[in-house]
Amino acid sequence: MTRTGLLRDRGARATPRREVLISGAGIAGPALAFWLNRYGFAVTVVEKAGSLRGGGYPIDVRGTALEVVRRMGILPQLRDAHIDLRRLTFLDGDGEQVASVNPHTVTGGVAGQDLEVRRGDLTDALHTAVRDDVEFLFNDSIDTLDQSSGHGVDITFRGGGRRTFDMVFGADGVHSHTREFLFGPEERFHRYLGYCFAGFTMRNTFGLSHELMMWNTPGRAAALYAVGDNDDVHAFLNFARPEPPFDAFRNPEAQRDLVAAVFADAGWEVPGMLAALRDADDLFFDGVSQIRMPRWSCGRVALVGDAAYAPSFLTGQGSSLALVGAYMLAGSLADRDHAAGLAAYEHSTREFVTLNQEQVGEGDATLFPTTDRALEQRNDMLRHLSAMPSAVPSPAGRPAHSALTLPDFMPMR
Ligand SMILES: Cc1cc2nc3c(=O)[nH]c(=O)nc-3n(C[C@H](O)[C@H](O)[C@H](O)COP(=O)(O)OP(=O)(O)OC[C@H]3O[C@@H](n4cnc5c(N)ncnc54)[C@H](O)[C@@H]3O)c2cc1C
Repeated sequence: MTRTGLLRDRGARATPRREVLISGAGIAGPALAFWLNRYGFAVTVVEKAGSLRGGGYPIDVRGTALEVVRRMGILPQLRDAHIDLRRLTFLDGDGEQVASVNPHTVTGGVAGQDLEVRRGDLTDALHTAVRDDVEFLFNDSIDTLDQSSGHGVDITFRGGGRRTFDMVFGADGVHSHTREFLFGPEERFHRYLGYCFAGFTMRNTFGLSHELMMWNTPGRAAALYAVGDNDDVHAFLNFARPEPPFDAFRNPEAQRDLVAAVFADAGWEVPGMLAALRDADDLFFDGVSQIRMPRWSCGRVALVGDAAYAPSFLTGQGSSLALVGAYMLAGSLADRDHAAGLAAYEHSTREFVTLNQEQVGEGDATLFPTTDRALEQRNDMLRHLSAMPSAVPSPAGRPAHSALTLPDFMPMR
């Protein structure tokens, strides 16, 4: 070996790469993997699904998160996948039009800047950006997690493997198992917002194109969302329910029955939607809720994205928080040990997260009023205003989604 080679080899041995495990290959997981890899970590991602979960409903990438995807180099690809929603039409209980508006007036977004893409297009772009540099273990998950040795985190996998990592990150979504390992049952951190929803795809027999139609009565909303000109539309049935229906959460038949009962007398296209719901093979049902935690880490294990701070889809900020959180977590650890890095992550990111979570108040979501009076007020607003007050101003006077200016962390490898 040459002298230079020897020195390089010694240098490499003097600072071994920190090995980390990320649970979850949704949005936060691959984004975190990307940045940790850039900062020199050896990254493994474990995902319980057999492959990347493609397709899916439309999601927004806004504000600070746009800068994250720009820095990752995937912004042009995402711009190509932009859905370009052109109209939002609100209907009353009889299916009569209340108002038809530009989507940005309701979402608080910025025309020409915000991105709306199918969730699968975002996960694809993130995965493509990291798959050559990061180890992915599909069809597996963490079975036990033990950090009592003080030197690392001992992991056993459901598939039978056993490994030790310097750090572990839970990016495993709103019902995170990593969170349960660390902090106990979900109920402690789950803030139910008083609604449930069912989402599924159905045939686009309505001639809808790049538009969303939403039917409302107090406490109920039915929406058809055509992301393009193609044959399918995304159907959403959302309803107010004071207590979460725990029995239905693990039982798809009970979910279908519950939704059918709630919307039994509904007009417009809802009967056809209920018929499609019966046969849907991609039904997604859940309570609308947030995760709020006093701490996002414990020892060498930390949470990111929905696992730590799901804001609920009512804010439209879940994916953006996941992207920003991943950037901030990786950057905070780039040149620090785990204790200082995880403290810095919380310190730098919590205000942004809280501000975004506060975009929705308990039971008073702007789009889903629960009383006649609230619905009438909302409809008046839609009729008369070109812009709804959708964003709580941040202390700096910027909308919540842009309230954090991304720092530059240690120069990349
Ligand atoms: C109907 C609906 C509409 C939405 N609309 C919007 C929107 O308009 N805008 C927006 O920004 N957000 C929206 N969201 C929210 C958004 O999808 C999430 O906030 C975002 O995906 C968070 O990313 P994440 O990576 O933290 O979690 P997820 O995307 O949930 O990813 C978690 C990953 O972890 C995996 N996993 C779970 N458990 C384990 C385990 N034990 N072991 C290994 N892997 C595991 C899962 O399979 C998944 O791949 C919406 C959500 C829903 C349901």
